[in-house]
Amino acid sequence: MGSSKKRVQSFKELQLDPLIQKGVDSAGYQRPFPIQELAIAPLLSGRNVIGQAKTGSGKTAAFGIPLLQSLDSRVNRVQALVLAPTRELAVQITSELKKIGAFTGARIVTIYGGQSINVQFEALQRGVHVVVGTPGRVIDHIKRGTLLLDSAKFVVIDEADTMLDMGFVDDVEFILDSVSENRQLSLFSATMPQPIVELARKYMRDPERILVDANDPTVETLEQFYAVVNQEEKYSLLTDLLGRLKPKSTVIFCRTKYGTRRLARELERQFQSVVPLHGDLSQHQRDHSMSTFRQGNADVLVATDVASRGIDIRQVDCVINFDVPQDTLLYFHRVGRTARAGDSGKAYTFVSPEEFEDFARIKQMSKWQIKPLRPEDASHHLESVQPNNQGRGRYGGFQPGERSRYGRRRWTQRGASRGRNFNR
Ligand code: AMP
Repeated sequence: MGSSKKRVQSFKELQLDPLIQKGVDSAGYQRPFPIQELAIAPLLSGRNVIGQAKTGSGKTAAFGIPLLQSLDSRVNRVQALVLAPTRELAVQITSELKKIGAFTGARIVTIYGGQSINVQFEALQRGVHVVVGTPGRVIDHIKRGTLLLDSAKFVVIDEADTMLDMGFVDDVEFILDSVSENRQLSLFSATMPQPIVELARKYMRDPERILVDANDPTVETLEQFYAVVNQEEKYSLLTDLLGRLKPKSTVIFCRTKYGTRRLARELERQFQSVVPLHGDLSQHQRDHSMSTFRQGNADVLVATDVASRGIDIRQVDCVINFDVPQDTLLYFHRVGRTARAGDSGKAYTFVSPEEFEDFARIKQMSKWQIKPLRPEDASHHLESVQPNNQGRGRYGGFQPGERSRYGRRRWTQRGASRGRNFNR
């Protein structure tokens, strides 16, 4: 467990290169997050590190600071490689590295499928120090001879469990086999399934293991709720909840691309500031959705799981699981989009009777309470619940006596709430 390991209390204690310290300061990082307290020092000393930490824990800077410090800006070769499962995560890692490395002269390039290989080829040809990429495209460049990794000495595998879910483990192995054996390797993953443990065993000698979960400050600031609702009533519950919560920034997750597209369209008809994110969109459309949402020009992002994994958007105050994810771990990835970096957030999961089983597994696995959202609870959390003329909360009531298989009352929505404006 991480707590028995040495923790640094401040960035100053790490005696970073002054130009990197300047980047840390200008990023506004006053004190290290737990994963940084534990991981930066061993990485600076050249150790291999396995970090079990979620996105939102500050893991990018945990490997990013030592990565940048390992570079020699006079050497015009690729010295560091970061592998990420999705293009969105790769782009986000690059922007974090550029922020911290702003004063170091480090040249960093992102390479991922969907972008013109020639554009990436030209960027690589100009000479870069750091490559952040998705496995498929990195292999493409290796095979074409446009990416030489013989000088790469700092290698990071980020979100290793997602790599596994997406079937990238063989690709990761291929890439690791292309890199010099003397490289320093670090691997970050929210969970440690057996194939990842084996991957680490195969490629890492004497790694320092760091676990940040119970200590993760981001989890304590997250409140989780669920509502049992029939599938066909989810939409009106959603618009009603949005109308009452008035969140500034909401991510809504759906299981399928089709469902995501349909929900985004429907919401867009009523509320203009909605953007979709799913795998059927072109890279350009996905980038556009992300930047619109990130800049606060859309209140709502409707997304599938794959498209959104690892995405870091600060100040998402609300996550809504319109569908319960079939894969239990996805639930934790989804709700981890809010309450990041110490901010508070709320997560709501809509559970239809068909989804009881999937949700029961999630509840069982969660260390944190997922509370039933009932009108009387919600009045503490939702704004302006007006009693209606039947003495129930305005936003729908229980059908007295009706119980779900959980033995809890069923949330039902009375009347449509379409057309309500949930924008501020
Ligand atoms: P990550 O888990 O790497 O995606 O980081 C989550 C968020 O925390 C990002 O927006 C980072 O910019 C931010 N962050 C990372 N380290 C710190 C820190 N020490 N202080 C404040 N914010 C941080």
